[in-house]
Amino acid sequence: MTCSRTVGVIGAGPAGLTAAYELAGQGVQVDVFEAGPKVGGMAGSFSLWGQVVDYGPHRFFSTDDRVNRVWHEVIGDDYDMVDRLTRIYYRRTFFDYPLKAMNALKGLGVGEAIACVASYGWQRLFPEKDESTFEGWVSNRFGKRLFRIFFKSYSEKLWGIPCRALDADFAAQRIKRFSLSEAIKAALLGARRITHKTLVDQFAYPTGGSGDLYDKMAEALVAAGGRLHLATPVRRVTFDTDGRPRIELGTGEVRTYDHVISSMPLTALVAGLNPPAEVAQCAARLRYRNTILAYLEVEGAGLFPDQWIYVHSPELRTGRITNFRNWLPSLCGQSRNTIVCLEYWCNDDDALWTMADGDVAALARREMAATGLTGGAGILNAHIVRVGKSYPVYGHGYRQNLAPVEAFLSRFPRLHAIGRYGAFKYNNQDHSILMGVLAAENIIAADGEDGHPPRHDLWQVNTDTDYQEAGRITDTGLQKAAP
Ligand SMILES: Cc1cc2nc3c(=O)[nH]c(=O)nc-3n(C[C@H](O)[C@H](O)[C@H](O)COP(=O)(O)OP(=O)(O)OC[C@H]3O[C@@H](n4cnc5c(N)ncnc54)[C@H](O)[C@@H]3O)c2cc1C
Repeated sequence: MTCSRTVGVIGAGPAGLTAAYELAGQGVQVDVFEAGPKVGGMAGSFSLWGQVVDYGPHRFFSTDDRVNRVWHEVIGDDYDMVDRLTRIYYRRTFFDYPLKAMNALKGLGVGEAIACVASYGWQRLFPEKDESTFEGWVSNRFGKRLFRIFFKSYSEKLWGIPCRALDADFAAQRIKRFSLSEAIKAALLGARRITHKTLVDQFAYPTGGSGDLYDKMAEALVAAGGRLHLATPVRRVTFDTDGRPRIELGTGEVRTYDHVISSMPLTALVAGLNPPAEVAQCAARLRYRNTILAYLEVEGAGLFPDQWIYVHSPELRTGRITNFRNWLPSLCGQSRNTIVCLEYWCNDDDALWTMADGDVAALARREMAATGLTGGAGILNAHIVRVGKSYPVYGHGYRQNLAPVEAFLSRFPRLHAIGRYGAFKYNNQDHSILMGVLAAENIIAADGEDGHPPRHDLWQVNTDTDYQEAGRITDTGLQKAAP
């Protein structure tokens, strides 16, 4: 099937690439412009010291059939199931993640546990009036003491703002419908109710790393006639006098399309469209947080069993440590060593963001040793990667700034903003894939007619979905039986 419509796609991460893959499969002429040298965006993979690693941990999970259809179609049989283990590390003690009330209270010791339950009781009697902030929302459900131990330090490392300045949206998305009393009830009743435990704790993962999915998707896109332009940054999007969108490349070249799908940072897209002053001001208030990934090659294997660990200890600057040895053996090649990755989060103007690689590596070596997780094993190598704008910051009231931006972009029915920084949504891969699928459906359904209302409201993806920290993987269709 061929189609005379033309679509330009900005960005070859999960969102843009999925949209292009879906459109090319329907015969639409697609051009994808990717600023970087390869596809996959933040969910890509790369080779390091004879092994394959991702940009931090990249677990894939979705209960959405549309997302899983794409995943299966592209990856075929090239994936395996990983038995998941992730824990919280706090002052040399490990706690279950997701947090389990009894495990947390036990790990803290009798005195602290009593203090935490008392603090929760106090909070029930005198709740915070303002639940619109992260601190208010979590404190009312867990008490101040547990909030300080299990939420405050990690969240402030990640977002770089006090929990009072963080929107409750973040909590509602990530720890929905949960409180200490419910957690204790679940712990007391739970043992009989929980079935299929092994299925709950598994996830499907490509044998060639998270990015394998996107490499294969790019191959399928090109095979279907799509054109992929790597190392081709887009400067901005403009419109011709007929309202058709134009992509202006970094080289100055301009190309006109029937539709443009953008997964470049929302703030940059809007700035290029010369918006009214009030929209420009709102867009300028939307902030992103950066990630620095410090990869260390540690001598030997068997350091710790988790795929990743959340580091809540306030004395350490790192917030998460991934152990790539515990994902799939196919990633480790012939190497006998372990690659761990320490994550650091910062703003553009923080000293850490511009710190020399050698200094970041030294910090990571020191902190890795301080956790005691290497057990004295030697650290052979270090490699630093910087990922800009990796987290849209849900600062308190951010929606008031996002809403006028969304309204402004809705004036352009032939321009579709999708993706994590592309739509300013705290997306996982599955949300970005879903946005790609729905953007493609909107374009096919619109049939090129202006004024045609979009079939799907893309701004609603990942605003009220259940956080899929645990779920029965059999429901997703991704379960793979043991050979
Ligand atoms: C440390 C870390 C851990 C994560 N862990 C998980 C996890 O466990 N599970 C999970 O599902 N997700 C995880 N994620 C999130 C996941 O990486 C993202 O949801 C996903 O990559 C978003 O896809 P996207 O296409 O929206 O954006 P991106 O992956 O950011 O892709 C956007 C692409 O657009 C390109 N681009 C930007 N500007 C331009 C321009 N001007 N011109 C041309 N191209 C441009 C970029 O180079 C990039 O390739 C994690 C992310 C991070 C940072």
